[in-house]
Amino acid sequence: MAEANPLYQTYNRAPMRFERGEGVWLMTEDGDRYLDFAAGVAVNSLGHSHPHLVAALKAQADKVWHLSNLYDVPGQHVLADRLTRATFADRVFFTNSGAEALECAIKTARRYHYSKGHPERFHIITMEGAFHGRTIATIAAGGQEKYLEGFGPKAPGFDQVPFGDLNALKAAITDATAAVLVEPLQGEGGIRGIPVEMLREIRALCDAHGLLLILDEVQCGVGRTGKLFAHEWAGITPDIMAVAKGIGGGFPLGACLATEEAASGMTAGTHGSTYGGNPLGMAVGNAVLDVVLAEGFLEHVRDVALVFRQGLASLQDRFPDLIDEIRGEGLMLGIKCRIPNGELLMAMRSEHVLGVPAGDNVIRLLPPLTIKAEEAREGLVRIENALVHLREKAAATA
Ligand SMILES: *Cc1c(COP(=O)(O)O)cnc(C)c1O
Repeated sequence: MAEANPLYQTYNRAPMRFERGEGVWLMTEDGDRYLDFAAGVAVNSLGHSHPHLVAALKAQADKVWHLSNLYDVPGQHVLADRLTRATFADRVFFTNSGAEALECAIKTARRYHYSKGHPERFHIITMEGAFHGRTIATIAAGGQEKYLEGFGPKAPGFDQVPFGDLNALKAAITDATAAVLVEPLQGEGGIRGIPVEMLREIRALCDAHGLLLILDEVQCGVGRTGKLFAHEWAGITPDIMAVAKGIGGGFPLGACLATEEAASGMTAGTHGSTYGGNPLGMAVGNAVLDVVLAEGFLEHVRDVALVFRQGLASLQDRFPDLIDEIRGEGLMLGIKCRIPNGELLMAMRSEHVLGVPAGDNVIRLLPPLTIKAEEAREGLVRIENALVHLREKAAATA
Protein backbone atom coordinates (compact mmCIF):
# COMPACT_ATOMS: atom_id res chain seq x y z
CA MET A 1 0.00 0.00 0.00
CA ALA A 2 2.82 2.39 0.86
CA GLU A 3 4.24 2.12 -2.68
CA ALA A 4 0.91 2.80 -4.36
CA ASN A 5 0.05 5.69 -2.05
CA PRO A 6 -0.30 8.79 -4.24
CA LEU A 7 -0.53 11.20 -1.29
CA TYR A 8 2.20 13.64 -0.36
CA GLN A 9 4.38 11.87 2.16
CA THR A 10 4.23 14.82 4.58
CA TYR A 11 2.57 12.96 7.45
CA ASN A 12 3.64 10.12 9.69
CA ARG A 13 0.23 8.60 9.97
CA ALA A 14 -0.75 6.02 12.55
CA PRO A 15 -1.89 2.75 10.96
CA MET A 16 -5.46 3.03 12.15
CA ARG A 17 -8.60 3.51 10.12
CA PHE A 18 -11.60 4.94 11.83
CA GLU A 19 -14.93 4.46 10.23
CA ARG A 20 -17.33 6.00 12.68
CA GLY A 21 -17.41 8.19 15.73
CA GLU A 22 -19.86 8.72 18.52
CA GLY A 23 -19.29 11.21 21.30
CA VAL A 24 -15.81 10.61 22.72
CA TRP A 25 -15.48 7.27 20.95
CA LEU A 26 -13.97 6.37 17.58
CA MET A 27 -14.63 3.00 15.95
CA THR A 28 -12.22 1.33 13.54
CA GLU A 29 -13.13 -0.66 10.45
CA ASP A 30 -12.41 -3.76 12.53
CA GLY A 31 -14.84 -2.72 15.25
CA ASP A 32 -12.28 -1.63 17.83
CA ARG A 33 -13.33 1.28 20.06
CA TYR A 34 -10.93 4.05 21.01
CA LEU A 35 -11.41 6.77 23.59
CA ASP A 36 -10.62 9.91 21.61
CA PHE A 37 -8.58 12.39 23.66
CA ALA A 38 -7.11 13.79 20.45
CA ALA A 39 -10.45 15.02 19.10
CA GLY A 40 -8.92 15.85 15.72
CA VAL A 41 -6.43 18.11 17.55
CA ALA A 42 -9.02 20.04 19.55
CA VAL A 43 -11.36 20.29 16.58
CA ASN A 44 -14.15 17.90 17.56
CA SER A 45 -15.15 20.15 20.43
CA LEU A 46 -18.55 18.50 20.76
CA GLY A 47 -17.32 15.00 20.04
CA HIS A 48 -18.25 12.88 17.05
CA SER A 49 -21.69 12.81 15.43
CA HIS A 50 -23.19 15.33 17.81
CA PRO A 51 -26.91 15.19 16.90
CA HIS A 52 -27.34 18.97 16.94
CA LEU A 53 -24.38 19.50 14.56
CA VAL A 54 -25.46 16.68 12.27
CA ALA A 55 -28.98 18.12 12.07
CA ALA A 56 -27.70 21.64 11.38
CA LEU A 57 -25.40 20.47 8.59
CA LYS A 58 -28.05 18.29 6.98
CA ALA A 59 -30.69 21.01 7.13
CA GLN A 60 -28.36 23.54 5.48
CA ALA A 61 -27.25 20.98 2.88
CA ASP A 62 -30.85 20.74 1.71
CA LYS A 63 -31.07 24.53 1.22
CA VAL A 64 -27.90 26.02 -0.27
CA TRP A 65 -24.26 24.95 0.01
CA HIS A 66 -22.31 27.86 -1.32
CA LEU A 67 -22.95 31.44 -2.33
CA SER A 68 -19.54 33.21 -2.30
CA ASN A 69 -19.14 36.58 -0.69
CA LEU A 70 -20.70 38.33 -3.67
CA TYR A 71 -23.93 38.13 -1.68
CA ASP A 72 -25.02 38.45 1.88
CA VAL A 73 -24.85 35.14 3.71
CA PRO A 74 -27.41 35.38 6.53
CA GLY A 75 -25.62 32.81 8.70
CA GLN A 76 -22.54 35.10 8.76
CA HIS A 77 -24.53 37.91 10.35
CA VAL A 78 -25.97 35.60 12.98
CA LEU A 79 -22.64 33.98 13.86
CA ALA A 80 -20.69 37.26 13.81
CA ASP A 81 -23.36 38.88 15.94
CA ARG A 82 -23.12 36.11 18.52
CA LEU A 83 -19.31 36.14 18.51
CA THR A 84 -19.10 39.90 18.97
CA ARG A 85 -21.70 39.85 21.74
CA ALA A 86 -19.77 37.14 23.57
CA THR A 87 -16.33 38.77 23.19
CA PHE A 88 -14.31 42.01 23.01
CA ALA A 89 -14.75 42.13 19.24
CA ASP A 90 -16.83 44.38 16.99
CA ARG A 91 -15.88 42.85 13.64
CA VAL A 92 -15.49 39.31 12.32
CA PHE A 93 -13.94 37.89 9.15
CA PHE A 94 -14.68 34.23 8.44
CA THR A 95 -12.06 31.81 7.11
CA ASN A 96 -11.75 28.07 6.54
CA SER A 97 -8.81 27.37 8.80
CA GLY A 98 -6.61 28.59 11.60
CA ALA A 99 -3.75 29.71 9.37
CA GLU A 100 -6.13 31.82 7.33
CA ALA A 101 -7.53 33.38 10.49
CA LEU A 102 -3.93 34.24 11.45
CA GLU A 103 -3.22 35.62 7.98
CA CYS A 104 -6.22 37.89 8.38
CA ALA A 105 -5.05 38.90 11.87
CA ILE A 106 -1.55 39.74 10.60
CA LYS A 107 -2.92 41.70 7.64
CA THR A 108 -5.38 43.54 9.90
CA ALA A 109 -2.59 44.63 12.27
CA ARG A 110 -0.28 45.78 9.47
CA ARG A 111 -3.05 47.53 7.62
CA TYR A 112 -4.06 49.34 10.81
CA HIS A 113 -0.69 51.05 11.10
CA TYR A 114 -0.54 51.63 7.34
CA SER A 115 -3.89 53.40 7.45
CA LYS A 116 -2.59 55.58 10.32
CA GLY A 117 0.26 56.72 8.09
CA HIS A 118 2.84 54.24 9.39
CA PRO A 119 3.52 51.67 6.68
CA GLU A 120 6.93 51.06 8.28
CA ARG A 121 5.24 49.52 11.31
CA PHE A 122 4.74 45.98 10.10
CA HIS A 123 6.87 43.93 12.48
CA ILE A 124 5.15 41.44 14.73
CA ILE A 125 6.73 40.05 17.87
CA THR A 126 6.07 36.36 18.52
CA MET A 127 7.25 33.79 21.07
CA GLU A 128 9.46 30.75 20.69
CA GLY A 129 7.60 27.46 20.52
CA ALA A 130 4.68 29.19 18.86
CA PHE A 131 2.59 27.54 16.20
CA HIS A 132 0.45 29.74 13.98
CA GLY A 133 -0.05 27.58 10.89
CA ARG A 134 1.74 26.40 7.75
CA THR A 135 1.41 29.24 5.26
CA ILE A 136 4.49 31.20 4.24
CA ALA A 137 3.60 34.02 6.66
CA THR A 138 2.51 31.84 9.56
CA ILE A 139 5.64 29.64 9.48
CA ALA A 140 7.62 32.87 9.71
CA ALA A 141 5.44 33.93 12.65
CA GLY A 142 5.91 30.57 14.34
CA GLY A 143 9.63 30.81 13.72
CA GLN A 144 10.31 27.08 14.00
CA GLU A 145 13.26 26.06 11.87
CA LYS A 146 11.79 22.62 11.10
CA TYR A 147 8.82 24.27 9.37
CA LEU A 148 10.85 27.04 7.67
CA GLU A 149 13.69 24.98 6.22
CA GLY A 150 13.79 24.78 2.45
CA PHE A 151 10.90 27.09 1.75
CA GLY A 152 12.90 30.09 0.64
CA PRO A 153 13.59 33.22 2.62
CA LYS A 154 11.61 33.58 5.82
CA ALA A 155 8.86 36.14 5.30
CA PRO A 156 10.09 39.41 6.79
CA GLY A 157 8.57 41.24 9.73
CA PHE A 158 8.46 38.60 12.46
CA ASP A 159 10.69 39.07 15.50
CA GLN A 160 10.82 36.20 17.93
CA VAL A 161 11.62 36.31 21.63
CA PRO A 162 12.14 33.43 24.09
CA PHE A 163 8.94 32.01 25.55
CA GLY A 164 7.72 33.92 28.58
CA ASP A 165 10.61 36.43 28.53
CA LEU A 166 8.97 39.78 29.14
CA ASN A 167 12.27 41.70 29.16
CA ALA A 168 13.22 40.28 25.79
CA LEU A 169 9.78 41.23 24.52
CA LYS A 170 10.25 44.79 25.76
CA ALA A 171 13.69 44.96 24.18
CA ALA A 172 12.31 43.73 20.84
CA ILE A 173 9.88 46.65 20.49
CA THR A 174 11.03 49.21 17.93
CA ASP A 175 9.47 52.02 15.87
CA ALA A 176 8.72 49.34 13.26
CA THR A 177 6.67 47.13 15.61
CA ALA A 178 3.00 46.74 14.76
CA ALA A 179 1.81 44.06 17.12
CA VAL A 180 2.52 41.27 19.56
CA LEU A 181 1.16 37.85 18.61
CA VAL A 182 0.92 35.07 21.19
CA GLU A 183 -1.05 31.96 22.07
CA PRO A 184 -2.31 32.41 25.65
CA LEU A 185 -1.76 28.67 25.99
CA GLN A 186 0.61 27.11 23.46
CA GLY A 187 -0.67 23.86 21.98
CA GLU A 188 1.97 22.46 19.61
CA GLY A 189 4.65 24.07 21.77
CA GLY A 190 3.81 21.68 24.61
CA ILE A 191 0.80 23.06 26.51
CA ARG A 192 2.77 26.02 27.80
CA GLY A 193 0.67 28.84 29.19
CA ILE A 194 1.61 32.46 29.52
CA PRO A 195 0.99 33.27 33.21
CA VAL A 196 -2.02 35.57 33.62
CA GLU A 197 0.07 38.36 35.18
CA MET A 198 2.42 38.26 32.21
CA LEU A 199 -0.47 38.42 29.76
CA ARG A 200 -1.66 41.53 31.60
CA GLU A 201 1.81 43.03 31.35
CA ILE A 202 1.96 42.29 27.64
CA ARG A 203 -1.40 44.03 27.26
CA ALA A 204 -0.03 47.06 29.16
CA LEU A 205 3.13 47.09 27.03
CA CYS A 206 1.05 47.07 23.87
CA ASP A 207 -1.01 49.98 25.16
CA ALA A 208 2.09 51.94 26.16
CA HIS A 209 3.68 51.52 22.73
CA GLY A 210 0.62 51.74 20.52
CA LEU A 211 0.91 48.08 19.51
CA LEU A 212 -1.97 45.79 18.74
CA LEU A 213 -2.28 42.62 20.77
CA ILE A 214 -3.13 39.63 18.61
CA LEU A 215 -4.09 36.42 20.38
CA ASP A 216 -4.01 33.07 18.63
CA GLU A 217 -6.86 31.15 20.25
CA VAL A 218 -7.17 28.67 17.41
CA GLN A 219 -6.52 25.78 19.81
CA CYS A 220 -7.24 27.19 23.28
CA GLY A 221 -10.44 29.05 22.34
CA VAL A 222 -14.13 28.15 22.18
CA GLY A 223 -14.46 26.71 25.67
CA ARG A 224 -11.34 24.54 25.61
CA THR A 225 -9.84 26.01 28.81
CA GLY A 226 -13.16 26.31 30.64
CA LYS A 227 -13.73 29.92 29.60
CA LEU A 228 -15.15 30.81 26.20
CA PHE A 229 -11.70 32.22 25.37
CA ALA A 230 -8.49 31.58 27.29
CA HIS A 231 -7.57 35.26 27.69
CA GLU A 232 -10.61 35.69 29.92
CA TRP A 233 -8.65 33.96 32.68
CA ALA A 234 -6.33 37.02 32.67
CA GLY A 235 -9.16 39.52 32.56
CA ILE A 236 -7.70 41.25 29.53
CA THR A 237 -8.87 41.57 25.95
CA PRO A 238 -6.87 41.53 22.71
CA ASP A 239 -7.34 43.87 19.75
CA ILE A 240 -7.40 41.00 17.29
CA MET A 241 -7.97 37.27 17.80
CA ALA A 242 -7.68 34.24 15.54
CA VAL A 243 -10.13 31.41 16.14
CA ALA A 244 -10.67 28.09 14.34
CA LYS A 245 -10.56 24.39 15.28
CA GLY A 246 -13.25 24.01 17.98
CA ILE A 247 -15.59 26.59 16.49
CA GLY A 248 -16.36 24.32 13.55
CA GLY A 249 -16.63 21.12 15.58
CA GLY A 250 -15.10 19.30 12.60
CA PHE A 251 -16.27 21.54 9.78
CA PRO A 252 -13.41 23.64 8.33
CA LEU A 253 -14.17 27.02 9.86
CA GLY A 254 -12.11 29.84 11.28
CA ALA A 255 -12.60 33.48 12.17
CA CYS A 256 -10.59 36.59 12.77
CA LEU A 257 -12.15 38.84 15.39
CA ALA A 258 -11.16 42.47 15.92
CA THR A 259 -12.21 45.67 17.58
CA GLU A 260 -13.70 48.37 15.36
CA GLU A 261 -10.49 50.39 15.74
CA ALA A 262 -8.10 47.51 14.97
CA ALA A 263 -10.13 46.54 11.90
CA SER A 264 -10.36 50.12 10.66
CA GLY A 265 -7.76 49.62 7.93
CA MET A 266 -9.56 46.65 6.39
CA THR A 267 -11.61 48.56 3.87
CA ALA A 268 -13.45 47.26 0.80
CA GLY A 269 -11.27 45.12 -1.42
CA THR A 270 -8.40 44.67 1.04
CA HIS A 271 -9.15 41.05 1.89
CA GLY A 272 -11.33 38.19 0.82
CA SER A 273 -11.96 34.45 0.70
CA THR A 274 -13.94 32.30 -1.68
CA TYR A 275 -15.19 29.81 0.87
CA GLY A 276 -14.88 31.83 4.07
CA GLY A 277 -18.30 32.21 5.67
CA ASN A 278 -19.81 29.51 3.48
CA PRO A 279 -23.44 28.69 4.49
CA LEU A 280 -22.57 25.14 5.55
CA GLY A 281 -19.80 26.43 7.80
CA MET A 282 -22.05 29.10 9.25
CA ALA A 283 -24.78 26.57 10.01
CA VAL A 284 -22.32 24.35 11.87
CA GLY A 285 -20.59 27.26 13.64
CA ASN A 286 -23.91 28.53 14.88
CA ALA A 287 -24.86 25.05 16.04
CA VAL A 288 -21.55 24.76 17.96
CA LEU A 289 -22.30 28.06 19.69
CA ASP A 290 -25.82 26.88 20.55
CA VAL A 291 -24.16 24.24 22.70
CA VAL A 292 -21.06 26.05 23.97
CA LEU A 293 -22.93 29.23 24.95
CA ALA A 294 -25.72 27.30 26.67
CA GLU A 295 -26.10 27.81 30.39
CA GLY A 296 -23.78 25.54 32.36
CA PHE A 297 -21.66 24.28 29.47
CA LEU A 298 -18.40 25.96 30.46
CA GLU A 299 -19.06 24.95 34.05
CA HIS A 300 -19.28 21.36 32.84
CA VAL A 301 -15.91 21.77 31.08
CA ARG A 302 -14.35 23.07 34.31
CA ASP A 303 -15.92 20.25 36.35
CA VAL A 304 -14.64 17.47 34.11
CA ALA A 305 -11.29 19.24 33.90
CA LEU A 306 -11.04 18.85 37.68
CA VAL A 307 -11.54 15.09 37.36
CA PHE A 308 -8.66 15.03 34.87
CA ARG A 309 -6.43 17.28 36.98
CA GLN A 310 -6.88 15.17 40.08
CA GLY A 311 -6.46 11.90 38.21
CA LEU A 312 -3.36 13.08 36.37
CA ALA A 313 -1.82 14.54 39.53
CA SER A 314 -2.25 11.18 41.20
CA LEU A 315 -0.63 9.44 38.21
CA GLN A 316 2.27 11.87 38.41
CA ASP A 317 2.67 11.02 42.11
CA ARG A 318 2.68 7.31 41.41
CA PHE A 319 4.78 7.36 38.25
CA PRO A 320 7.40 10.06 38.87
CA ASP A 321 9.85 8.00 36.80
CA LEU A 322 7.60 8.38 33.76
CA ILE A 323 5.75 11.67 34.29
CA ASP A 324 7.61 14.92 34.84
CA GLU A 325 4.75 17.40 35.01
CA ILE A 326 1.06 17.94 34.33
CA ARG A 327 0.23 21.15 32.50
CA GLY A 328 -2.63 23.07 31.03
CA GLU A 329 -6.02 24.50 31.76
CA GLY A 330 -9.51 23.09 31.39
CA LEU A 331 -9.60 20.31 28.82
CA MET A 332 -6.33 21.36 27.20
CA LEU A 333 -3.95 19.25 29.22
CA GLY A 334 -0.38 18.12 28.82
CA ILE A 335 1.62 15.26 30.28
CA LYS A 336 5.30 16.15 30.18
CA CYS A 337 7.08 12.82 29.98
CA ARG A 338 10.36 11.60 31.40
CA ILE A 339 10.50 8.99 28.66
CA PRO A 340 10.09 9.84 24.95
CA ASN A 341 6.48 11.02 24.60
CA GLY A 342 6.01 8.69 21.61
CA GLU A 343 6.48 5.69 23.90
CA LEU A 344 3.68 6.71 26.22
CA LEU A 345 1.50 7.61 23.26
CA MET A 346 2.03 4.10 21.82
CA ALA A 347 1.34 2.50 25.17
CA MET A 348 -1.85 4.55 25.46
CA ARG A 349 -2.85 3.48 21.97
CA SER A 350 -2.48 -0.14 23.06
CA GLU A 351 -5.02 0.68 25.79
CA HIS A 352 -7.25 2.24 23.12
CA VAL A 353 -6.95 5.82 24.26
CA LEU A 354 -5.73 8.50 21.83
CA GLY A 355 -3.66 11.60 22.59
CA VAL A 356 -1.61 14.07 20.54
CA PRO A 357 2.16 14.57 20.70
CA ALA A 358 3.45 18.10 21.26
CA GLY A 359 6.78 19.88 21.59
CA ASP A 360 8.81 19.77 24.80
CA ASN A 361 8.20 15.99 25.10
CA VAL A 362 4.55 16.46 25.98
CA ILE A 363 1.42 14.46 25.23
CA ARG A 364 -1.67 16.57 24.78
CA LEU A 365 -5.04 15.43 26.08
CA LEU A 366 -7.73 17.37 24.21
CA PRO A 367 -10.95 15.41 24.76
CA PRO A 368 -14.26 16.61 23.37
CA LEU A 369 -15.66 19.26 25.71
CA THR A 370 -18.80 17.17 26.03
CA ILE A 371 -16.92 14.35 27.76
CA LYS A 372 -18.63 12.98 30.85
CA ALA A 373 -16.89 12.50 34.19
CA GLU A 374 -17.13 8.70 33.94
CA GLU A 375 -15.54 8.79 30.48
CA ALA A 376 -12.72 10.92 31.87
CA ARG A 377 -12.22 8.34 34.65
CA GLU A 378 -12.25 5.53 32.10
CA GLY A 379 -9.53 7.36 30.17
CA LEU A 380 -7.46 7.86 33.32
CA VAL A 381 -7.64 4.13 34.08
CA ARG A 382 -6.43 3.38 30.56
CA ILE A 383 -3.56 5.86 30.87
CA GLU A 384 -2.67 4.28 34.19
CA ASN A 385 -2.61 0.84 32.55
CA ALA A 386 -0.34 2.23 29.84
CA LEU A 387 2.03 3.57 32.50
CA VAL A 388 2.03 0.24 34.34
CA HIS A 389 2.96 -1.58 31.14
CA LEU A 390 5.73 0.89 30.39
CA ARG A 391 7.16 0.39 33.86
CA GLU A 392 6.96 -3.42 33.55
CA LYS A 393 8.70 -3.19 30.19
CA ALA A 394 11.43 -0.97 31.64
CA ALA A 395 11.92 -3.43 34.54
CA ALA A 396 12.15 -6.37 32.14
CA THR A 397 14.89 -4.72 30.08
CA ALA A 398 16.82 -3.35 33.10
C1 LIG B 1 -3.87 24.42 14.52
C2 LIG B 1 -3.36 25.77 14.85
C3 LIG B 1 -3.17 26.74 13.85
C4 LIG B 1 -3.35 26.45 12.37
O1 LIG B 1 -4.63 26.06 12.07
P1 LIG B 1 -4.92 25.32 10.67
O2 LIG B 1 -6.40 25.17 10.66
O3 LIG B 1 -4.17 24.04 10.68
O4 LIG B 1 -4.44 26.24 9.60
C5 LIG B 1 -2.77 28.00 14.25
N1 LIG B 1 -2.57 28.29 15.54
C6 LIG B 1 -2.74 27.38 16.52
C7 LIG B 1 -2.52 27.78 17.93
C8 LIG B 1 -3.13 26.09 16.20
O5 LIG B 1 -3.28 25.18 17.17
